[in-house]
Amino acid sequence: MSAKKKTAFETTCCYCGTGCGILAHTDQKGKVGVEGNPEHPVNKGMLCSKGMNLHYTVNDCSDRLLFPQMRFNKNMPLQKVSWDDALNRTAAVFKTFIQKYGPDSVAFYVSGQCLTEEYYVINKLIKGFIGSNNIDTNSRLCMSSAVVGYKMALGEDSVPVCYDDIEQADCFFVTGANPAWCHPIIWRRVEAHKAANPHVKIIVVDPRKTDSCSIADIHLQINPGTDVTLNNAIGRLLIENGKIDQQFIDDHSEGFARYKEQVFIRTVEEAALICGVDARDIIKTARYIGASKGFLTMWTMGLNQSSIGVNKNLSLINLNLITGHIGKPGSGPFSLTGQPNAMGGREVGGLSNLLPAHRNLNNPLHRNEIQAFWGGTTISEKPGLTATEMFEALEKGTLKAIWIICTNPLVSLPDVRQAERALKNAKYVVVQEVSSKPETLSYADVILPAAAWLEKEGTMTNSERRISHLAKLIDPPEEALPDREIICRFAQKMGFKGFDFENDAAVYDEHAALTAGTSIDVSGLNYELIKGLKTVQWPFPKGATQSESKRLFEDHLFLTPSKKAIIHSVEDAIMSEKPDDDYPLILTTGRTRDQWHTMSKTGKVNKLKQHLAKPLLEIHPEDAADLNIQEGDIVLVNSRRGEVRIAATLTNSMKKGVVFLPMHWGKVLNSDLNRANNLTNNLLDPISKEPDFKFCAVKVVKY
Ligand code: SF4
Repeated sequence: MSAKKKTAFETTCCYCGTGCGILAHTDQKGKVGVEGNPEHPVNKGMLCSKGMNLHYTVNDCSDRLLFPQMRFNKNMPLQKVSWDDALNRTAAVFKTFIQKYGPDSVAFYVSGQCLTEEYYVINKLIKGFIGSNNIDTNSRLCMSSAVVGYKMALGEDSVPVCYDDIEQADCFFVTGANPAWCHPIIWRRVEAHKAANPHVKIIVVDPRKTDSCSIADIHLQINPGTDVTLNNAIGRLLIENGKIDQQFIDDHSEGFARYKEQVFIRTVEEAALICGVDARDIIKTARYIGASKGFLTMWTMGLNQSSIGVNKNLSLINLNLITGHIGKPGSGPFSLTGQPNAMGGREVGGLSNLLPAHRNLNNPLHRNEIQAFWGGTTISEKPGLTATEMFEALEKGTLKAIWIICTNPLVSLPDVRQAERALKNAKYVVVQEVSSKPETLSYADVILPAAAWLEKEGTMTNSERRISHLAKLIDPPEEALPDREIICRFAQKMGFKGFDFENDAAVYDEHAALTAGTSIDVSGLNYELIKGLKTVQWPFPKGATQSESKRLFEDHLFLTPSKKAIIHSVEDAIMSEKPDDDYPLILTTGRTRDQWHTMSKTGKVNKLKQHLAKPLLEIHPEDAADLNIQEGDIVLVNSRRGEVRIAATLTNSMKKGVVFLPMHWGKVLNSDLNRANNLTNNLLDPISKEPDFKFCAVKVVKY
């Protein structure tokens, strides 16, 4: 073994939910280097462009926040203060608001990039001690429709599959996702599997012809929003052709009769017309699915970020249920988690409507159980504000204070001008951040410098329920502190007991104890075991010695009261903003290959700018010709909420009538006219409260 490898620390990539293993090490000058961990079960040594350049983000501290800062009133500049001053004042302000306006006058807006231990203490603080459920996360913008879909269909928020199912599947239905760019290492495994097994079928559903289409047998280039129509048409064909698993349906599911009625409402030809695809491709898709022995459905934001996101999820999961392709090798619904620890956050209950270990906020027994365990105040039965609701409440003035951790809402929220008005109107804004770049900092009354990846310890859970330990390799710069420690110090300033954890391992132990007897039982785990076993999939109850089950529901006993999966009949109405003569095109937004979220990390790496140095509006050549737009022309894109001014690129990969903008860019050279979310709206799915990022009406004119 080389000297370099002897000193390597095992950790996990802090970008997407794939959860690749990384070996990180320092050289004699203390500079960090990274490489893929060849022994890691997820990536087997591979890393994508973002992961392999992570060391640049760590070694470049030029943008780091180094000291707590505070301003004493809105008219004064921020000034450097001590940690005690920043936290004492914040505790005093929070106490005043809580006393005067009640506990729901304060809120925490956090991130799917927070570690499980951080999520745990923030959730405990607000729900168990402040007495409000006002904690939500940018995961609301990402996975909440999938969470609801799983709960309604399978009884709990439980991803049934594991990555090893990839190599056992012979049909992939990839919808509303571009894993070639957004979950690259998962996609490398799919590509390798297809290359070795050419009979494997891949169907990609997307209004854009993305890189994921390059190995697809069928690309269904549907009209935005028509996923339910498509999925129902496939369901109808599977039934008509006798390609369903009647035994599974009879023994292990409910709701099939109503589902059958629903999917027979439309003919396949009608569905094809609505979706804007060739009916023969839908028929071929159903044939591939019907002939498969292992059928994986894969999806992410294209389904989730929708005003009918839950319906889209249910209509997709139905395809696994009616074919019995769940709980067996190579089969199941497989939501690709956007962020590295969105799942860990859900495990500890870090959303406004959840309690730890998948307990329900609306269940009084669950509330009492958690309250007794924590020993704090009564847990409120009222669900807290979700991500966009928090910013609406700030604008209205009903929410007084917000504490923003590890996320940049002034780039990532829909209708971001509303979020600006909200922060302007907020009485008190705390921003806990690594970087000095996020736009939120200009609205902060207090800035708390946080430790970054490799500067703190903790755990994360990836898309396949795999828990990894992240080691601390280097010290944070100057006075920056780990997020968990900041929250615990603040809780103690508030006078709350139960936050004097000796270390992160002790926080994990408390979380693990709360999971005992639940479906996500990890009560048998602790840091030593996770490190010893390298990574572990949940569940892992007391007494377990290795990960108990890699795939869930192999017994076909689901987590619903009847133990049966629920097939929901889903109508295909589109609830998005309608295009009209004033705003005739549909805008959809998404990620690019080499950037991550709002670029506070990847934006520091020159190599990652080479793929796409600036945002471009993608438009179909025929739409461009109608508007007299040439390649590279600057165009104005307007919606009912705002404007973007940007260069256009003409591409046949766009569906006609649809334009695309990347979501990463905020202010560039003091102009915020690159920001896609100037245009999007905060229309929400009524159940998941996830915004409709993938569909808004716009007009495009040459500037
Ligand atoms: Fe990191 Fe995701 Fe790339 Fe893996 S696929 S290296 S987790 S960004």
